[in-house]
Amino acid sequence: VTKRAAVLVTGTEILIGRVQDRNSGYLARELERHGLVLERVVAVDDDEAAMRDALEGLLALGVDLVVTSGGLGPTHDDRTVAAVAAVTGRRLVLDEPTLAQIDAITGAFAASRGLDHELWREGNRKQATVPEGAAVLPPVGTAPGVVVERSGQHIVVLPGPPSELAAMWATVPGHPLLRDVFGGDAPGRHVLRVFGVPESSIANVFEELGGDAGGTETTICAARMEIEVLVRYGPQAAGAADRLLEGLRERLGSGVYAEDERRLEEHVIDGLRAAGCTLATAESCTAGLVAARVANVPGASDVLLGGIVAYANEVKLQALGVPDALLREHGAVSAECARAMADGVRRALQADVGVAITGIAGPGGGTPDKPVGLVYVCATVGDDVEATEHRFGDGGRDNIREWSVTSALHHVRRLLQRVPSRA
Ligand code: ATP
Ligand code: MG
Repeated sequence: VTKRAAVLVTGTEILIGRVQDRNSGYLARELERHGLVLERVVAVDDDEAAMRDALEGLLALGVDLVVTSGGLGPTHDDRTVAAVAAVTGRRLVLDEPTLAQIDAITGAFAASRGLDHELWREGNRKQATVPEGAAVLPPVGTAPGVVVERSGQHIVVLPGPPSELAAMWATVPGHPLLRDVFGGDAPGRHVLRVFGVPESSIANVFEELGGDAGGTETTICAARMEIEVLVRYGPQAAGAADRLLEGLRERLGSGVYAEDERRLEEHVIDGLRAAGCTLATAESCTAGLVAARVANVPGASDVLLGGIVAYANEVKLQALGVPDALLREHGAVSAECARAMADGVRRALQADVGVAITGIAGPGGGTPDKPVGLVYVCATVGDDVEATEHRFGDGGRDNIREWSVTSALHHVRRLLQRVPSRA
């Protein structure tokens, strides 16, 4: 049987919009990966009664697992553990080994700063106070997590800072108390990532292949200019999933650019490595975002030489060598200029591949001829060119810039597919 879960996100900062909740999305993906069905996500502020209510509500759904995020700190507004104790009918007790662990962490910190460790005394006792009989998850920062049970339902209490939550979560699926919850068979999953094929054609192809008739469960989801086709399947539907995937691959052809969940920039770097090529960027309206995306990936320095932010025309002229006559004839926002920028940055930085963006991100600066959202993207290697004129429309400055960057990365990726692999 499939186990069911719920997530309770706590934090006034989230409900007032100061911090964007990242933990529920992370936990959703993790639960999915472990084969649990996430039934509900609830967010409440740092109010103990609200937390108790929310916990009661989630447990009443009959879920096997509730994971909470946040409110484990030493301060007065960290109340999750108290709420969980109340809901599970347990007293709060001081856990001495945990206190010793926290004291060791804060003691070392205090000593390194020459501060009086006494300052931490009370906060540490609070953080080491847990529901009686609960299992303690060792602290990643200074707050320990907690696993408690009520009539067969489990509650896992995790800290709020996303990196702490993720590090502590890593100890949860294998936890001895949670063997029943995580012991089931996770459904199989396969992802096809498609670029340059409209969502509706993918939907048509999917229908023509018979859809989910074989017991698969497919979602087709557009995001970041690509379409992700996620096929999930139970043990009985593995064959059907294979056939469906085979059909999708065949019909979508080179539109399928990846079958994993790594970032686009990682695929770009792989492509550069395989081709033995270096990359340089020339960016106008995105002002360095393409280079920054590539540099997201550890080891990018193997292939990324650098970039030139050519916002002003003088920089396009002087640093990239875009001809003055070209700028006067076609303007800075033109296919010709994008091409000259891509070639120019290759020359300037001695790179194999150049990629350029020039466009109008808005909100001002548009004309009937060259409206906001008009963006030219061009990538070149040798004499080969991959270029597009985008008309994104007035989708907002941030979006236009982000779409342009994503498009530029896809241009590099596609261009490299035509470069023979060095290997
Ligand atoms: P601390 O000991 O730091 O107080 P905590 O477990 O009590 O940890 P919170 O007080 O709820 O956690 O949150 C601490 C910080 O972690 C928040 O200010 C916020 O920056 C970040 N944070 C908390 N919850 C989330 C979330 N769901 N998504 C993103 N960031 C979060
Ligand atoms: Mg806190």
